[in-house]
Amino acid sequence: MTSKTTFLGLGAMGTALATAALDAGRPTVVWNRNPHRVELLAGRGATVADTVEKAVADSTTVVVCLLDHRSVHEVLDPVTAGLSGRTVINLTTGTPEQSRELAGWAAEHGVTYLDGAIMAVPQMIGGPGSAIFYSGSTSAFTHHRQLLDLWGESTYFGPDAGMASLHDMAMLVGMYTMIAGFVHGAAMVGSAGVSATEFVERQAPFLAAMTEQLAAFAATVDAGDYAGEGGQSLKFTETALAALIRASLDQGVGVEVLRPVHDLVTRQIAAGFGDQDTARIFEELRSGR
Ligand code: NDP
Repeated sequence: MTSKTTFLGLGAMGTALATAALDAGRPTVVWNRNPHRVELLAGRGATVADTVEKAVADSTTVVVCLLDHRSVHEVLDPVTAGLSGRTVINLTTGTPEQSRELAGWAAEHGVTYLDGAIMAVPQMIGGPGSAIFYSGSTSAFTHHRQLLDLWGESTYFGPDAGMASLHDMAMLVGMYTMIAGFVHGAAMVGSAGVSATEFVERQAPFLAAMTEQLAAFAATVDAGDYAGEGGQSLKFTETALAALIRASLDQGVGVEVLRPVHDLVTRQIAAGFGDQDTARIFEELRSGR
């Protein structure tokens, strides 16, 4: 018989994770700070624990999906004794350092720790396109694979507990800056009465096509050789960005999104690399100035 799994935290995401376990016929124990949130899952056969202590006592695998790092400590710290010998799979979003801190905390208390970063929204859990990154205990990842695969495609990044979060955060940087760039463009055409809905029909396929260029950027960065032929030079890119800034200001649109990109490029030009590939801004960023 499948052993029980405890879920701490039944927000939108925790509920989706626990629902997938219940749908697969797995014995499931649930706890949430605000008790009204357990009702839905109780109706679907979950065992409700009214305290964290009881929830943890009831199974050897504890899935945590709370708001943030601080709430994870608030919920788990008082029950460290009860967690000893158990496995915690923490799917709460945190930074790599917070994940490593939790892994250290777990080791101190005899808890096996697997960190996870969810690359999906709750409605996607268990369906196509849902993916979760993991890092931390190798044995926990292997042993719980059946459970993990209920939620989406599982990828393991090794025993350093911070690696799943590092990949998550790095990918979200791309997402947020892309959204900011899109909204900037929408503001530009919006100043001439074009709706964002009309604009996105052109912008989305263009961005999709541009992502095909990323592999070439990656190869240049990995080679660390920015002097090769074929790429777009920093000087060329500076001219383009200066035009984008001018056009934005002419339309009455702020340049808070564009200005930092322009700054990165001009700093590399000032350092004497104007004829080299634009991918060289990687060096500027990694220097952490
Ligand atoms: P919700 O806001 O829906 O739920 C938050 C949960 O955390 C609730 O169960 C809440 O309990 C609990 N909580 C917050 N603070 C405390 C505390 N101090 N003590 C005890 N419980 C607490 O968030 P989600 O479920 O959407 O997200 C949960 C995690 O999943 C987050 O880390 C989020 O970043 C991550 N995630 C979410 C995604 C999404 O699209 N929703 C996508 C990828 C990751 P209560 O009901 O009592 O308030």
